[in-house]
Amino acid sequence: MSEANCAGCDDSGENASIQDTTPQPGENVTKQLTREICSNCVKDAFLSSAIITRSRGNGCFYCNELAYCFPIENLATLVDRVLAQQFVNVWPYPPAEWLDTLHDTDCPKPRTAFEVIQSLAPFHASVTSDITDILKRRYADPTCHIEGKRGDFDDDVKFVPAFITQGQWPQTWTKFEHALKYEARYFSQTNIDFLHEMFDGIDRHFTINGKPVVTKGGPRTRYKSLYRARVFQDFLKMNEALADPEINLGPPPHGIGQAGRMNANGISVFYGALQQRTALSEVRPPVGSYVVTARFDIIEPIRLLNLSALEKAVSNTDEVSRFNPSYEKYHSRILFLRSLRELMTRPVMPDDELTSYLPTQVIADYLSSRGEPQIHGIVFPSTQVAGKASNVVLFHKAARIATPSLTDIHSEGNFSRTVTLKLNRDSISIKKITANAVKFDDVSSLASILQNRTKF
Ligand SMILES: [Zn+2]
Repeated sequence: MSEANCAGCDDSGENASIQDTTPQPGENVTKQLTREICSNCVKDAFLSSAIITRSRGNGCFYCNELAYCFPIENLATLVDRVLAQQFVNVWPYPPAEWLDTLHDTDCPKPRTAFEVIQSLAPFHASVTSDITDILKRRYADPTCHIEGKRGDFDDDVKFVPAFITQGQWPQTWTKFEHALKYEARYFSQTNIDFLHEMFDGIDRHFTINGKPVVTKGGPRTRYKSLYRARVFQDFLKMNEALADPEINLGPPPHGIGQAGRMNANGISVFYGALQQRTALSEVRPPVGSYVVTARFDIIEPIRLLNLSALEKAVSNTDEVSRFNPSYEKYHSRILFLRSLRELMTRPVMPDDELTSYLPTQVIADYLSSRGEPQIHGIVFPSTQVAGKASNVVLFHKAARIATPSLTDIHSEGNFSRTVTLKLNRDSISIKKITANAVKFDDVSSLASILQNRTKF
């Protein structure tokens, strides 16, 4: 990006020159280059540690403390690197590809260098101002040949975040799906590494509004009750089942349960919905059948991965600083995690269920067997109901239901399971299905299908 012997463009950080910083008579140059900044004034763990490592032990210009310091010129170089890698200069000469994105609702607002630098770390305004002045002067130097995306730091120059892709994650996901279906289902180190990397520190992620991606469930939380529905085609059998509702309205005993989106055949988990209507829609009852719905209260504190929140996750710069060279890789992973909701909840046709559910079943198993902090289930949007309807799966370890007789056939073989759910018997209601409303979109007509067919 710059000539090798141009001190102002040196991007090594630690080698930035401070020898030509003395103001000359008549020149409007400040002493910023000779100012030292301490590790306490940068408010960014990565930068603090960079200062401590390279410190020459001096007095801080900004807080007047005797602490680990390095020249503000060095900090400007680190900021410069972040600006070059993670931002694009779009004003006053907007690139065509940026103009193309202007109609997007999420197109970021261009910001001045000062505003962008201030957003990188909570610098004091005087620090940001000095860095901006240093960069402005550095790039205004006619001997400095810039080959980068921006030419200067004049006041009218504005930046937007550079487009970062999901990197290799989508391809790795495709390999993960393929391996599960056609190569190694149970023991694949590659897939285990993929899952480790994907979910590393998942409980430390938040949405832009500060909502956690791994949320609390149980008493006094939004996820304190779940509805289940069961279809009966025979009225007498339904009456028989209601004699023992905890067992017959809860999940089937282990070894018997059919495979589902989040469980393999024989692994008993608890599927529930946040709303009664969603539970009813999920069982897709045939006309003429009876549906029993019931509410189960979650009586123990649990933790749930919320796929809808994950879709809005943002990079946690407390976790990986923007100044860390790994930031782009980290941000790519966040972008991929945002797409996980869609990957894990896309509708599956009945003929495809066995293999199409493999990736989600494996992810559920993986999350269920994680160590501390534990995850007990997943909140995911309903594919049967449009809007914000949500379902919850509680993994086997959190799917034990309290029974009046204190016996529990579901605990067989795993006596350490905590009782997490309690049926509210007063909530049981019975409905007879009289008609199913089918919703659809018109996508084509016979004429257009025949017309398209002639093109091939
Ligand atoms: Zn300081």
